[in-house]
Amino acid sequence: MRLRALLSSRLLPLATTSLVTLALSTGHVAAAGDQSSTTAPADRVSADDLSAPTRVVTLGTGTPDIVEGRSGTSTAVIVDREQVYLFDAGAGFMEVLGKFGDDGGGIFPDTSKYPGTVLPTYLDKLFLTHLDSDHILGIPELLLRGWVLERNHPVRIWGPPGTRTVAEGAIEAYQPDIRHRLGSLPIGKEAPYTGIVEELASEPGVVYRDRYVTITAFDVDHGTWEAGEAFGYRIEAPDMTIVISGDTRPTPNLIEHAQGADILLHEVMSTTGLATLPQEWQGYMLDAHTTTRQLADIAEEIDPELLVMIHPLFLGAPEDTLIQEMTDAYEGNFALANDGDVFE
Ligand SMILES: [Zn+2]
Repeated sequence: MRLRALLSSRLLPLATTSLVTLALSTGHVAAAGDQSSTTAPADRVSADDLSAPTRVVTLGTGTPDIVEGRSGTSTAVIVDREQVYLFDAGAGFMEVLGKFGDDGGGIFPDTSKYPGTVLPTYLDKLFLTHLDSDHILGIPELLLRGWVLERNHPVRIWGPPGTRTVAEGAIEAYQPDIRHRLGSLPIGKEAPYTGIVEELASEPGVVYRDRYVTITAFDVDHGTWEAGEAFGYRIEAPDMTIVISGDTRPTPNLIEHAQGADILLHEVMSTTGLATLPQEWQGYMLDAHTTTRQLADIAEEIDPELLVMIHPLFLGAPEDTLIQEMTDAYEGNFALANDGDVFE
């Protein structure tokens, strides 16, 4: 397999689900969700059947810190240029779709209808790693902006306990907008702001299967979030296996679940930046996140074809410093992801 990054301006060398099903409604209740999302379909697609390779797009690579050019964290996995699986929805991640144009730029599905208008109707499956705000601020945007832009079917959201409250609350908070648009938009909205939320059970495992992918959630250790509240995800597509760490300090469980990964997307923080923080903040950060040096050790154990650093916490260090830290510590191929980078 050839792994390369497209559109990157600064690339380095290189359980069953618990099933709280909820119709978020404004009086128009969604049809009940597919309850068999963990059942293996008989007609699974093979690598030979694909018309396009599986691609990973880092739509947002930000953190709670405000950094120019880094939207809230969000990663899209696109299989056969048709099936799109979204992992986390940070603030402003949808803006990055504009980079690909209204026809998807050969990467996302082509939904061009009105010239110059991106219609992200394909963003309807969201998997949350955990409920820290930098990973979910974009949920109202996904639900409501997607609907205004002609998505006429529900979004399904998988996430830890509390996911339902977040999604339901977003709909509740935007009732004035919903009422206004229902009464004034010149397009039909028979299936309006509806979503279906599936909360992962406290025991992780396979949370989703379709003809193209199997998605497994596994526990990671992120600060004081408990087991069943912070996840990484393993995505097995016909031609590639991708692992997304979520936010985590080093954890053996991730190494176990990431064996055989072609692309490992892992959070990171600068060792240099960390050293400049007050002692109590260093303790907090080490309990929640992974330094470049720690990540190098993790990646060596997993040995992916490509390590993609996401969610970079620079902590005051220049970007080049973080890259240099990883260059010094890790011999494998790696990249620091920027918004809109494509990996395949
Ligand atoms: Zn985060």
